[in-house]
Amino acid sequence: MLSPRSAVRTLPAYHPPLAGRNGLRLDFNENTVGTSARVLARLRNLNAEDLARYPEREPVEAKVAEFLRIDSSELLLTNGVDEAIHLLCDTYLQTAGEAMIVVPTYSMYRIYMMAAGAEVISVETSDDFGFPTDKVLDAITPRTRLIAIANPNNPTGSLAPAPELLRVARAAPESAILIDEAYFEFCGQSLLGQFHEIPNLFVARTFSKAYGMAGLRVGVLAGHSDQMRAVRRVCSPYNVNAVALACLPEALADECFIKTYVSEVLDSRTRLQGFLHANGIPYWPSQANFVLVRVGSSRELAASFVEYIRSRGILVRDRSNDPGCEGCVRITVGPREHTDRLLVALQQTIEQVAIAQGVTRA
Ligand code: PMP
Repeated sequence: MLSPRSAVRTLPAYHPPLAGRNGLRLDFNENTVGTSARVLARLRNLNAEDLARYPEREPVEAKVAEFLRIDSSELLLTNGVDEAIHLLCDTYLQTAGEAMIVVPTYSMYRIYMMAAGAEVISVETSDDFGFPTDKVLDAITPRTRLIAIANPNNPTGSLAPAPELLRVARAAPESAILIDEAYFEFCGQSLLGQFHEIPNLFVARTFSKAYGMAGLRVGVLAGHSDQMRAVRRVCSPYNVNAVALACLPEALADECFIKTYVSEVLDSRTRLQGFLHANGIPYWPSQANFVLVRVGSSRELAASFVEYIRSRGILVRDRSNDPGCEGCVRITVGPREHTDRLLVALQQTIEQVAIAQGVTRA
């Protein structure tokens, strides 16, 4: 009988809750407004010929490389960061190799690493979710082949200082180090370009978050040109579709859209964190477009929080099952008017959850 590889048979299923997302989308860290009007205009302009042709990635890669101030040979456009992670696993991992993650973190690292047959080593962060540099350094072995680090991290929003990440990369020269900067626009810190000196370092970026193009599926993997040559061998020449490639230059050109959106998100993040502080609700200061909040002491309370705020028209994500996140939900922030709506619903929801916990709030 046909049987999947043993690594695949033991793979946990990952089903993000995408069904029935009616309401204000504060659950997937997307752009809560949409995308740039220039992207939409380009989309509406596409013709049959544009769709009939196989997509050509290179001319758009040249534009993205220029935008990022790196060489085209150092960059690959991918079907979202997800494909970038997958490609690194395909390029560098093998059965009996080790791959490392720092938990809690983005779920797809573990899945692709396990699928490649690697042994996944999970290093836990401390209670404040700070980056555990020494623990990561201690966990490096001669079998370590890939270390994936989201920076800022998801779901915690915490940011590891660049020098700490460079220490890790230098300590494991035979391992690929992925710094996943999916939320770069909301923090401004980047290791892009450092791969000139540290050839085992890779940086990923996405157009799914600040740029509002999650549905188009475009990401960037950047690294030393020698390594990128190997990664490109593993990749389909048609991995990014023609619609996404047509829209991408418009997204890059509309700097005003991104600037305005990011600045409103940063204000909203401050407002949300201020609200949580004023109400005595534990949260972790975030460098991304979301905040991790401990809404109760148990999984049940987090689930009832998510349900209640959903009945108020707001979708947030239950993160209770992530390591160290019991009772936590992750709330994406958008621009001002979305935050106005959030804070009203949050106030009502907190009161309900407090009643459920038997706590009387002043
Ligand atoms: N990396 C991180 C840290 C993320 O949080 C996400 C999305 N939740 C992704 C990658 C996936 O990005 P993309 O849509 O580009 O595949």
